[in-house]
Amino acid sequence: MIPLSEARDHVLSKVEQLAPRQIALEQALGLVLAEPVHASDPIPGFANTAMDGYAVQAADTNDVPVELAVVGTIGAGHDGNLSIGPGQSARIMTGAPLPEGADAVVKVESTSPNDAGDRVRVQERVEPGNHIRYPGEDVAAGERVLEAGLMVTPGRVGLLASVGAYEVAAFPRPRVGVLSTGDELVDTAVPLWRGQIRDTNRRILLSLVTEAGFEGVDLGIARDCPSEIERAFRIGAADCDAVLSSGGVSMGDYDYVKVVLDQIGDMRWMQIAIKPAKPFAFGVIDSVPVFGLPGNPVSSMVSFELLAKPALRLMAGFGADDLGPNIVKAVFGDDRYHSDTRTHYMRMAARRDSSGALHVTSSGGQGSHQLAAMTRADALAIIPANMAVSRGDLVDVIMLNTRI
Ligand code: AMP
Ligand code: MG
Repeated sequence: MIPLSEARDHVLSKVEQLAPRQIALEQALGLVLAEPVHASDPIPGFANTAMDGYAVQAADTNDVPVELAVVGTIGAGHDGNLSIGPGQSARIMTGAPLPEGADAVVKVESTSPNDAGDRVRVQERVEPGNHIRYPGEDVAAGERVLEAGLMVTPGRVGLLASVGAYEVAAFPRPRVGVLSTGDELVDTAVPLWRGQIRDTNRRILLSLVTEAGFEGVDLGIARDCPSEIERAFRIGAADCDAVLSSGGVSMGDYDYVKVVLDQIGDMRWMQIAIKPAKPFAFGVIDSVPVFGLPGNPVSSMVSFELLAKPALRLMAGFGADDLGPNIVKAVFGDDRYHSDTRTHYMRMAARRDSSGALHVTSSGGQGSHQLAAMTRADALAIIPANMAVSRGDLVDVIMLNTRI
């Protein structure tokens, strides 16, 4: 058996960032920028008001209350092509450009206009600059607003739009083919024969791929037959940036995934000192990485988290420190548990106490086939090889449910 770190290093050394492309802003959420983005113009682009009210000359408000003439109204989106002089004001709405001659805004709550709307009584004294948003206050002309390597978040989509970057240079979302293997698998609602089971892994892995922000491509089910597996791998390698398969990497007579990968790709078959997810095959077919994940549903999920997802994130442009999984500390809440010669990833329910500290307890059956208990897990507790943990001990956990 090899340590997880060795398997991970091997995989990460064999994958590369995808070539950056110009991508429409509508498609950019969650992608990593490949180039910095600059603002050609300042934001705001013009002096404007932060409040609904009256644009005035501040000096006119030294002695309040004071009555001023209202020479016009400026709304947001108007060009504000108006000027005011001493004793004058303009009614103005939030976001509207400041008229020529004005140097402050009195908020509407501190004013009372006459019925005709041509005069206004101002009750509040203002200083020059009050309630004015000056050009460049948010972003200066030429400023680098986003660095290369940053992920596009909803706010950043807005920032990009605000500087007119309707296309961005970014790493594309990896297209990830997902294949199930096994003679026992069924994927329709027909009654099962003895020996058959329903294919769960392909649906899980496609969902994990989508949830991680990548594009899943369904490669179907291949029977335990080398030519069928080879065909699916070749289709996946031609059409996708990476391929995930599940099953067929163990020691059984019909475990052909590792055999096929070895024949048609550059393959390494690994026995990793972790539980679940010990067997793992990784190969490269025509420079497309293929992850041969184990067949048991919980194993395939854990293998995805520990090995495939970090590699896919690398391909998607995330930095070496940002490949995951994210490990945090939690208080172990079960009776004494000890691992064996492998590092155990225990399925745990998690909760926070009133001080915000994270507590974890087993979410149920820890068998690698026990998917129901996995779905109740909010976290995986990492129990290193040859270690015992007891109630109250601090353990490392990988959060699966980020809402806790
Ligand atoms: P294998 O590694 O192919 O021997 O599979 C290990 C175990 O995982 C067996 O019990 C398989 O029936 C099960 N298994 C394999 N693939 C799937 C799948 N796609 N969905 C559910 N269980 C699977
Ligand atoms: Mg199998």
